[in-house]
Amino acid sequence: MGMNDLYLDAQSQGYYESDKNACACCAGDAFITELIEKNNEIKQCDFCKKRAKTISVNCILERFMRFICFFYDRAVESCPVEHGEYLLPTKDVYELADDYLNVKKDNLFEFLKDQLVLDEVYCEKLNDYGNEIVYSPLWMWNEFSRQLKHEMRFFFWRNSDHTFHDEPLPYSILFEISKNVEFFNFVKKIPEGTSLFRARSGNNFPHTPQALGAAPDNIAPDNRMSPAGISLFYSSSDFKTCLSEVRESQSTFTVGEWVTCHDMLFLDLSQYLNQENNYHLPNISIFDSDNLDKIPIRNFFADFLSDVNKKIDREDLSKRYEYVPTQVVAEFFRHIYRTSSGEKLSGIIYPSCQNPGGKNFVIFCGQRGCLPPERTQFVKLKTIQTVD
Ligand SMILES: [Zn+2]
Repeated sequence: MGMNDLYLDAQSQGYYESDKNACACCAGDAFITELIEKNNEIKQCDFCKKRAKTISVNCILERFMRFICFFYDRAVESCPVEHGEYLLPTKDVYELADDYLNVKKDNLFEFLKDQLVLDEVYCEKLNDYGNEIVYSPLWMWNEFSRQLKHEMRFFFWRNSDHTFHDEPLPYSILFEISKNVEFFNFVKKIPEGTSLFRARSGNNFPHTPQALGAAPDNIAPDNRMSPAGISLFYSSSDFKTCLSEVRESQSTFTVGEWVTCHDMLFLDLSQYLNQENNYHLPNISIFDSDNLDKIPIRNFFADFLSDVNKKIDREDLSKRYEYVPTQVVAEFFRHIYRTSSGEKLSGIIYPSCQNPGGKNFVIFCGQRGCLPPERTQFVKLKTIQTVD
């Protein structure tokens, strides 16, 4: 094969081939490590010089280019142009490598980057409703939120002006994420009799389920998962978390311990907050070519969680719209979503920022769900205590 053929090959695949090999330590990616473990041959790693199981750098580069081609198009082929300028943001392959090519060792990163063919610029794929919609790896939640906060509030499943290359509507984003909830094992069964704690400021009211349960609909305030006028049962997994969620000022609290009345399914995102208050949802490697479509979904849930725990000044009425995107997600999981076996969810579990390790439960029921009859009851009041 002549130099020209090698160049043409590199052009079509996006990188120049090399005979170098890298070990799992240098790559530092869990998915690449799995691939390396399947390989029984011991070679010298060209980046740390240790003898170990290795992978060809061509394999890493091939997977990186598959990632790029999944989410990006060559601008020259698909980006609209006006007066000789691209109308959408473009990036060259070095910039994409800086954004996404996460390998542990710098010398491996620099080597991989140098192997890439730098003569194309890329733009994010445009939506094509004739084919499957491709979502950007990063902007799914931002786009969802932006449309609901600043463009459309009530008719987000259709827009008569929607065109071929507009961003996907909020409803199609929800539909896309809902198809992947079980892939991530986000649905969890909470057994009957599970204790939940809910506090109310003060002590000067009757100690009844009506007074300590979900607020009556007509006084339900705007909240993270429910708009004003729609009441949900907000609670915590334990006494300490419950108090740390409400305790902003010195005050007396009345805390009810409730128990769940039957087995219930929840969207459980509670285990994904670490000690440093960072969200660490299951990572999908950019090298995992079979699951690239899961990357935007994973990031959507990470950004959703981060918004759920973001502080909003509740007194500032002009900022109430900040709650809308998380309220829409909760309502979608309450009324539209069903598991693959057709079951409804009863609520969402999310991690507490106030008490790391603690969990918050929002149950999809108002005051009626805190009272008999058993058929429609979600939780029943077990014990009550006052805290000064
Ligand atoms: Zn190495």
